[in-house]
Amino acid sequence: MKTKYISTFAAVAVIVFLIAFIACNSGKNKEYTETFFAMDTVMSITAYGPQAEEGINKARQEINRLDQLLSVNNENGITYRINTAGQDAVSVADEPDVKALIEEALTISRLTAGSFDITIGPLVKAWGFTEEEFNVPDDFEIKKLLEKVDFNNIEIGNDSITLKNDSRLDFGAIAKGYAADAAVKALKDAGVKKALVNLGGNIYALGTDEKGEDWIIGIKDPYSEEAILGRISVTDRAVVTSGNYERYFEKDGKRYWHILDPETGYPADSGLVSVTIISDNSTYADAMSTAAFVMGAEKTKEIYELSKDFEYILVTKNGELITSEGVSLK
Ligand code: AMP
Ligand code: MG
Repeated sequence: MKTKYISTFAAVAVIVFLIAFIACNSGKNKEYTETFFAMDTVMSITAYGPQAEEGINKARQEINRLDQLLSVNNENGITYRINTAGQDAVSVADEPDVKALIEEALTISRLTAGSFDITIGPLVKAWGFTEEEFNVPDDFEIKKLLEKVDFNNIEIGNDSITLKNDSRLDFGAIAKGYAADAAVKALKDAGVKKALVNLGGNIYALGTDEKGEDWIIGIKDPYSEEAILGRISVTDRAVVTSGNYERYFEKDGKRYWHILDPETGYPADSGLVSVTIISDNSTYADAMSTAAFVMGAEKTKEIYELSKDFEYILVTKNGELITSEGVSLK
């Protein structure tokens, strides 16, 4: 009798344990990860909870939709249409994202006195970064192309965008950040509370990790393939890095990288090799990381002091590490 009691108890305990295990894995703590290719880069999203799979699917749909809209090479997309319209106004009445993104980009262009400029496209192309056919343009060509680079050439109408003076849009420095914000919104709308979104290095840490603790993000050491500078702990924050070690080519022993100074037309050489921006807004963090790389440490600090709506981690050419006051790198 006693033995039977014990075995019944054991069976019940096993069932209870099994139910708890299944509930845990199919419910509250369910983990779901997807890795995919979009916007010319590898992306991955990990989410927890019962809505993890649905949330990731919705986020992925959003990213793909934005990829089509914002790509300069998609002939059926609105960006391509704006870029090939000459001086004509192009209706964006059905494209609220494009208008919103341009408005946000222009705000950052003004804030950074043009260090960030989404009309940099013709120069990025001339240096060969668009098609990966690298080339060092001569001074004359750079001077000619610089005439097209000016964010003031973008005219925003009620429902339209017009590009003056042969300007071209290039969302390369802001699109992934915008897509990360959209992905996070899709995840939240689906009911996801914990997720890590990594769109080719544009990271957004939503909520907490699986254990309910802040997400720990390693910040890459620009001087090493494997090492990190340290770790930061974040929740509901975007962490975005721009560096000259990501995309570059070398010619005659000189290195040329993909972040250009709209003032000179040459790869930005402000003394920084890496910039990480931490902010609750991923679009802002993405644009600001590119802008800070162009501006250098001093101007970045000046802008930081204005609003303190982001934090920064900078690495200089001399290997110096500079962080804003809200950063705790461990
Ligand atoms: P990111 O990796 O976010 O810093 O963005 C770099 C990409 O943005 C480049 O590959 C170019 O397509 C574009 N870009 C380069 N320089 C600038 C700039 N000064 N302002 C805006 N976009 C830029
Ligand atoms: Mg950027």
